Amino acid sequence: MPRTCCLDGPGLRERLIRLLYPEKCVFCGVLLHDSVRISACEPCLASLPRHGKGFERIPRVPWIDGMFAPFTYEDSIERAIHAMKFFGKPKVARTLACLMWEEMMKYPLIPDFDLIVPVPMHWRKRMSRGYNQSERIGQALGEIMDIPVKNALAKTRHTKPQSLSSREERLINLKNSVRVTDPEVVSGLSILLVDDVVTTGATLGTCAQALRGAGASWVFAAVIAIA
Ligand SMILES: [Zn+2]
Repeated sequence: MPRTCCLDGPGLRERLIRLLYPEKCVFCGVLLHDSVRISACEPCLASLPRHGKGFERIPRVPWIDGMFAPFTYEDSIERAIHAMKFFGKPKVARTLACLMWEEMMKYPLIPDFDLIVPVPMHWRKRMSRGYNQSERIGQALGEIMDIPVKNALAKTRHTKPQSLSSREERLINLKNSVRVTDPEVVSGLSILLVDDVVTTGATLGTCAQALRGAGASWVFAAVIAIA
């Protein structure tokens, strides 16, 4: 049974921290009551750009058995993802993972997952950013859903930023750019690949293909937002 730690409300330690560092809405920055479960205010929660779909097959994302994207990549969600990626706010990942889980619970058909695997980041990029945001989302989701998380994929070479390339360029760019670090870890399992945003789906497709090649039985994907 999945745990709902972030939905249970803060513990005593967290409340004490919040006395010193009051909790703020990750979307608008307004100060929140120290007992909130999710770091977001009611008006922001109500106006999130919800995608309104459960796990589904996406034709443009090959090798994936079903993808879940609770939000569309715009407005408050786009700004929060930007803050998480480019302005050194990895803690936003936890709030976004909680919101993803809340949205996921609205749909009756959630596949069974054995392992969460974050979409990898090249070590050079990870070093300059200090963290991989997909890993942060994956770790938070793993805690909430009580599923193990493993960095089973590695980026084998530095690729051009995906937002700067056309779909064709992306596919060529990504070919053989990801490998499974330990095939025994994923073989025969149902995997949930986690990333922040899906645009063309080329990155998720490349990762899923590598996992299938290493013997994964099922590969699903969950992203915060779909562009
Ligand atoms: Zn707000």
